[in-house]
Parts: sequence; C-alpha cells; structure tokens
Amino acid sequence: MILMQGKGVSKGVVKGPIYFYQRGAVTISTAKAADLEKEKQRLEEAKEKSMEQLGALADKAREEAGDESAMLFETHAMFVEDEDFVDCMNNALDEEQCTAERAVEIAGEQFAAMLAAMDDAYMQARAADIKDVARRILNNLMGMVEGGIDSEEPVILAADDLAPSETLQLDKSRILGFITQGGSGNSHTAILARTMGIPAICGLGDSLREELNGRLAYIDGETGKVAIDPDDITLAAFQAKYEKQQEMKVLMETMKGKADVTLDGREMMVYCNIGSPEDVAAVLTNDGQGIGLFRSEFLYLAASDYPTEEEQFKAYKEVAAAMDGKRVVIRTLDIGADKQVGYFELQKEENPALGVRAIRICLNRPEVFRTQLRALYRASAYGKVAIMFPMITSVWEVRECKRACQKVMAELDAEGIPYNKETEIGIMIETPASVLVAGELAKEVDFFSVGTNDLTQYTLACDRQANDLGKFFDPHHPAVLRALKMATDAAHKAGIWIGICGELGADLSLLETFLAIGIDELSVSPSSVLPLRSEIRKSIAKTCTLEKLEC
Ligand code: PEP
Ligand code: MG
Repeated sequence: MILMQGKGVSKGVVKGPIYFYQRGAVTISTAKAADLEKEKQRLEEAKEKSMEQLGALADKAREEAGDESAMLFETHAMFVEDEDFVDCMNNALDEEQCTAERAVEIAGEQFAAMLAAMDDAYMQARAADIKDVARRILNNLMGMVEGGIDSEEPVILAADDLAPSETLQLDKSRILGFITQGGSGNSHTAILARTMGIPAICGLGDSLREELNGRLAYIDGETGKVAIDPDDITLAAFQAKYEKQQEMKVLMETMKGKADVTLDGREMMVYCNIGSPEDVAAVLTNDGQGIGLFRSEFLYLAASDYPTEEEQFKAYKEVAAAMDGKRVVIRTLDIGADKQVGYFELQKEENPALGVRAIRICLNRPEVFRTQLRALYRASAYGKVAIMFPMITSVWEVRECKRACQKVMAELDAEGIPYNKETEIGIMIETPASVLVAGELAKEVDFFSVGTNDLTQYTLACDRQANDLGKFFDPHHPAVLRALKMATDAAHKAGIWIGICGELGADLSLLETFLAIGIDELSVSPSSVLPLRSEIRKSIAKTCTLEKLEC
C-alpha cells in the first residue's frame, strides 16, 4: 500500500485512476530579438487575446460555478493590465532586448516570487494566479493550446499545482477529484473545488510522483489521505466512508427547501459563515437561510492598501443583492492578533490576542471605521444588511460604535444617498466581559452573535492558535456553555435574538444543549447547513436538557 498525506481542502471520498495533468512544456529562447518593435507589437496582441479569453472564461465561470467565481477571471484580467506587471514586461524587453516570450517569462517569475515572499498567506496564494496569467500570455504568443485530460474515463487529476483557469477549463464530468503537490486551502483552485463540490487534496509534496500515473487511488478530501493499493483495513474504511457519504448526499438533497424547525415546532435560523463574496454561491446551493457572519476582513487581507469605500461597497452590495432579501450580517473588520495586515502598521505586541485588535482598531482609527460604515450603509439599500461589531467588552464601546453609525447616516442623508435606516446593529459576544454585562449590552443592540472560538480562548485562557493545549482547550467546557446561557437569557430578557457564529455552532453533539439554552440562530459553513437541518428536524426542543452545563 502507498499512503500519502496532504491537506484536505474540499471534502468527499472518491476512487479512480490518477491522471497527471498534461501541460505543454515550453522552451523559451534567451537570444536577442531581431526586431524589438515587432516584439512589442506581438506582446500587445497576446495581451489583448488574453483579455478576450478571460472575458469568455468569466462568463463560463458565472454559468458553471456561480456569479462570484467569475471574479477570479476578472482579477486575472486586472493582472494582465496591471501597471507594474506591464512595466516589468516592457522593461525586460528594453533591457534584455529579448523576445516577447522571454519578457513575459521574466516578469511572471519576478512577480510570482515577490508575491510568494509576502507574509500574508492570501497574497502568497496569488503567486499561482500571476503564473497562470503569464502562462496564458505565453500560450497566446506561441500559439499553444491549454493542456487537459486525454482520457475518456473519469480520473483523479494530479498536478504539481493547478492554476485556477486550468481548473475551470477542464471537463468536470471527467474529474473525480484533484490532488496536487503544492497549493493551499486559500488558493482559488481549492475555492473552486469546494464550490464545484469536487474532493481535493493539496500539499502532497514529492510523494505524489509522476510514475503513479494510471494507478487506482482512493482519496479522502476531508482527512487529506490518498491510498494506492490499500490494505484490507484501509480499503474497508474508505468504502464505509464512501457509502455513508452517498447515503448522506441523497438524504441531504431531501433537506433542501425544508424549514429549520424541531418536531415540536421550535424554529432555529440556520445561516452561513462566509469570508468573501465568492462563497455566496455555496450558501445558495446549500440552501442557507441567510448569512450570519461575513468576515469582512478578507477585503483588507487581500489588498495591499486600505480598500476604498467604493471597493467595499461593491463587495457588500454584491452579497446583499445575491441573498435577495435574506439577512446578511456583515462584521466590521476584525484584524490584529492572528490576522495581520501590513499596511495597518500595527505596533508589535507581546500578547496580540489581548492587544489592539478588531473594534479597538476601529475606535482608534475613526477614518478607517467611517469608510467601512459608509460602504455598509450604502449596501444596506440593496438587501437585508445587518452590521456587527467584534470583540466588544464594554457598553461605552457599543455606544461609540452607534455614534459612528449615526454620523455616517447623517452624512448619507445630507448627500442624498439611499440606505436602510432600520439596519440592524449587533455585537459579537466573545469575551467574558461581554457575557457579564450582557444585560446592559442587550439594551443597546438588535442582536447578539456568540464567537465561540474567541469566547473559548478568553474564558479558558487558552490560545486558540496553539496546537499543543490538547484537552485544556475545550469548547464544551461548562464555563463556555454557561456563558452562552447567560448571554442568551440577557438577550431574551431584552427581546433580542442571539446566535452562534463560532465553529461550535456546527457541533451536532451540542445541538440539544443549544436548543435547551434557547439559541435562536446557528451560523455555520455552507456545507454544514443540510446536516444541521436534518438534526434539527429530528429534535424535540422541550425534552432537551442543560445537563452539559453541569461540571
Ligand atoms: C469567533 O471568535 O468565534 C468568531 C466567529 O470570530 P473569528 O473566528 O473570526 O475570530
Ligand atoms: Mg472572534
């Protein structure tokens, strides 16, 4: 048996023959060009052709993988025209007096290396995009056709790393799964695989060798395991998981369109967590009833400078409009601690999780906050937007946030810009302080959403980033569950709703406890919606107990 371990980035178990992606090898001459003007002309034409192709690919992506996937190709088109990238190609032509092909190769390598060297994981993942763009221009210069699958039977596609456009141009009916040597869960290929529901594993490294081409493999996109010639025990485990997955798929399909209600009529709102507008397609496919947490910081993490009001407005509006009147809770930026953004130039802190993060940054930098609030209120005219503030500890913070909202609304009124005056305002309950003053906080806002990831960290004094805390990091700890109960009682006393948007919300073993506590909403990853709905519909709320709150 050959067993390989990578990182599972798109769930699902499949078996099939491994097929290495065919990519035409190119050799580029480093010789001087005979006619530099002609090379410049050729480069212009190849860029134009690339733009046309990317436009067509964006349309195809929109059709096949939802509206937001098209953004990927629109981003590639932006790369083709990126001023620095174009300068880099032109400089290479002038300085090296080389062919257009060589200039593209130089610029592509330089840009990809620059992105790969950045601290930010998202930007590092963009190195694959720039390589993809450079390869497209090169193909157009050389008249080459993109690689593909020369196999009639469905395969598990293997590659060193797959560029997003390569992924999308493939005939999906012939792909059972993706396995790659490199790549990351942040890469667009992983995002696309998840959106298309194709199991994928990345980061298999050198263990994924070309001589495995044609071998029958079993892959598990959840655990990141790949097995070839599995022994009996491994085979039985894969088969059992596969069968369960098939049964689940059929069962889950039947859950679409059904209400999130217990047998005794207790309603639970089942919403989704998203990190970017691209994730909305998955929310709709999985029949999420709303968005309970849109981590808006993705916009800031993806940018090299503060995103403008217009850029933010466009992203929020897109999500609000796509959700078509369903609630979309957008959290104001939550950076600091583990989410560092270079251009914010945050001071280095000894204990960043206890430092200037999330709402503290916004209250310290009113201009940054104002820009985001303006974008959020403007987007509220296009759907049911709710605004949520993270990491609240005190009542004065909420009042200051609300004053900032009032100011922005007054500005928009004065400018005649439409927005929803009834936009709900909520806060995250993720510090013990916020639980202890929940009664007062509840009088200030329209809803609470419990961030159990941070609430566990701060309640148990356990770093959520540390891998070695083992059983000490226990989100099921009665202290965490009692905190949930205290916040819920305070919310209900004030007549507002309360949800959970931390990872714990999808923990089916706690569903009965959440029902007993009186939680009104659970916001989970899109793929968790239907399994959660299925469990809710089997539950009887009035028989649920608070026994897990006992020590
Ligand atoms: C949480 O803390 O539970 C939460 C949802 O926020 P984040 O994980 O983004 O800190
Ligand atoms: Mg949090």
